[in-house]
Amino acid sequence: MPSQRQLFLNHLAQTSDAPLMLEMLSANGIYMQDVDGKNYIDLISGIGVSNVGHRHPRVIEAIKSQVDKHLHIMVYGEFIQSPQVRLAEALSNTLPKRLNSVYLVNSGSEAIEGAMKLAKRYTGRSNILSCYDAYHGSSHGALSLTGSESFKRNYRPLLPGVSHIKYGDRDQLEAITNETAAFIVETIQGEAGVCHANNAYWSAVRQKCDETGTLLILDEIQCGFGRTGNFWAFEHYNIIPDVVVSAKGMGGGMPIGCFISNKEIMQVFTENPVLGHISTFGGHPVSSAASLATLQTILDERLLNDIKEKEKLFHKLLKHPKIKEVRSKGLMMAVEFESYDTLKPIIDKAIELGVVTDWFLFNDKSMRIAPPLIITEDEIKKACKIILQAIDKA
Ligand code: PMP
Repeated sequence: MPSQRQLFLNHLAQTSDAPLMLEMLSANGIYMQDVDGKNYIDLISGIGVSNVGHRHPRVIEAIKSQVDKHLHIMVYGEFIQSPQVRLAEALSNTLPKRLNSVYLVNSGSEAIEGAMKLAKRYTGRSNILSCYDAYHGSSHGALSLTGSESFKRNYRPLLPGVSHIKYGDRDQLEAITNETAAFIVETIQGEAGVCHANNAYWSAVRQKCDETGTLLILDEIQCGFGRTGNFWAFEHYNIIPDVVVSAKGMGGGMPIGCFISNKEIMQVFTENPVLGHISTFGGHPVSSAASLATLQTILDERLLNDIKEKEKLFHKLLKHPKIKEVRSKGLMMAVEFESYDTLKPIIDKAIELGVVTDWFLFNDKSMRIAPPLIITEDEIKKACKIILQAIDKA
């Protein structure tokens, strides 16, 4: 009998020649347990998803209750399905008034695709601006936005009319013109290794988009849903986007994504042609119920109240001669080392000692730390102690 490991390698399509291959049996809160009974602290929320922790009781309850009512019954947008409606209302209530129309999909990439189409259709323009070192997903459109040539090179031709500027650089905003449909940008760049820009940059972005009639689309797939200490990361910068995109943490462990805009903008999908953007499974009722429970958990349990304190504790504890810098916004953190060669054995050792972390797609010398927001101070101390041990023993 081939082992599960062997079957995994034989029959599941692989995405690298060095998968982690941890074999997990269960996961609860911040912990995952493997088939041998070993516990791991999930310090990356696998990745950026389990913001309320694995199997949060309210999420599980919502899923069970919806499963007992109905699963998929109709393509997105035709039937009135209570989980979708309640989720859309709750999402709108977390946002400024003009972000009041929610298009539910199944993943981050899909949400980005929808947002790109929305911008093209609403503005009648086809050029889209994105940033270097951005990651917006793996589908063709989203990949076109990706700001790393090595990821794109072998998949060309991609979408025409996409160009890139340096994130956070005000001078480069000149690239936003009357011919730009949208500037699509992560509010905080994730895969670049947690990079943020200042208020002056964001107000210049907003102003330039307003002047040119360009839609400002903020990708909050990684940084939204409480990750940075505000429900939406853009709340830190005193701006309002035209479209905000979410996924990952939004589902509390279930697959779902969305792009949210103003009703008047979103209306373009209804005509010329009708059904301008459609999805069979978008806003699956079970995922929508899980997402609503996730949103309510973050708000009702006031999970955002002590994020700042937790962030500070990480900074206080993660001190070591080999740590060059700790960048963070809330519990979205990057711990920078000299090089990938320094970091890789540390990550391996941390996993061996029971803490799961990794690096970033476009920053392989920084360790990713993005724990479930429910992590306690004691658990932070435990996790940081293991990281420091891993640095010493690697
Ligand atoms: N945008 C950002 C900022 C992301 O971090 C990701 C996922 N890493 C995506 C888009 C794509 O999401 P998905 O993997 O659900 O397609």
